[in-house]
Amino acid sequence: MKKTLKGTLRDYGRRPKKSLGQVFLIERSVQENILALADLGADDTVVEIGPGTGALTRDILPRVKRLIALEIDADLASYLRTSMETTSRLHLVCADALRFDYERASSSLGTRLKVVGNLPYVISAPLLVTFLEQRKAFSRLVLMLQKEVAQRLTAPPGTKQYGTLSVLCRSCFHVDLELKVSRNCFHPVPKVDSAVLRFVPRESSLFPPEAERAFRELVRAAFSKRRKTLLNSLRSSLGKRLPGERIRELLEDCGIDPRRRAETLSAEEYASLAQHLQTNHPLW
Ligand code: SAM
Repeated sequence: MKKTLKGTLRDYGRRPKKSLGQVFLIERSVQENILALADLGADDTVVEIGPGTGALTRDILPRVKRLIALEIDADLASYLRTSMETTSRLHLVCADALRFDYERASSSLGTRLKVVGNLPYVISAPLLVTFLEQRKAFSRLVLMLQKEVAQRLTAPPGTKQYGTLSVLCRSCFHVDLELKVSRNCFHPVPKVDSAVLRFVPRESSLFPPEAERAFRELVRAAFSKRRKTLLNSLRSSLGKRLPGERIRELLEDCGIDPRRRAETLSAEEYASLAQHLQTNHPLW
C-alpha cells in the first residue's frame, strides 16, 4: 500500500507538501473504520475535506448519492480528476475548505451533509469553528484529528485538556472519540498520533438562538484566565460591559460558586449562565 502511494506521488513528480498538512493514509483498516463510522447510505451527500490522492474518496463514491470533494492543492485536484471515475455524482472542487459555504450547499441541495475527512492539522481548529458556525448544514461529521486535539475536544470538565473548544463543540454536538490511529498509518510519518472523532448534532440546543453570542463570549472570557477564579476571569474580560457585582449575581443566581474555575463548568452550566445573562441584561 505504502509503495503504491509513494509510486503514485513519484509518477506524478511531486512530494507531499508539509504546509498543506499532506500526510496520506496508508492503512486500509483505518479507512474502513472511518467509512463505517460515517454510516454511508445511497441517499447521502458527503463532503470530503482534502481528498489528497483519493484514499477515502474511492471508497466513499460508490456508496453515496453525491460526493463533494474539496481539495486546495491544484496539483492533487488535477491528479484526482484524471484518475477518478468520471461520474456526475463526484463534484471535485479545487477550493479552501475554510471558505466553502456548507449551509448554502445544504439548503440548495435540500439535504444535510455528512462530512468525512482526514483533516490537514494546520487548519483543524479554524475548520472546527467553521463547522460550529454552520452546524445546521450537517447530519454527522467523522474527522481524523491530531490526537491531542481529539483528546481536548472529548476531555471531561475538571481536566487540564478541557477548554474553550471542548465546551463550544459539545454545546452543539455529541462528540465521541472512536478510534486512536498510530502515526505509522500515514505517509510520510507525522510527528504525532491521530484519532477519529464522530460529531452528531444535538437534537435540541442547550440555549435559545438569541443567547448564542452570550454563550460564546462567556466561555471565551472564562477560559482566558483559566488559573483565576471564574469571578475574576469574567471580571477581567467583561468588566467594562458588566460591573463586577452583576457578574457575581449572575453566577450566584445560576447556583455557580464564583470561586470555581473555568474548567470545572459543564457546557450545560455555561448555557444556563448565557441564558440568564441574555434574559436579564438584554443590551449586553
Ligand atoms: N484524504 C487524504 C488521505 O487520507 O490520504 C489526504 C489527507 S491530508 C492529511 C490533508 C489533505 O487536505 C491534503 O490533500 C491537503 O492538500 C488538503 N488540504 C490542506 N488544506 C486544505 C484546505 N484549506 N482546504 C481543502 N483541502 C486542504
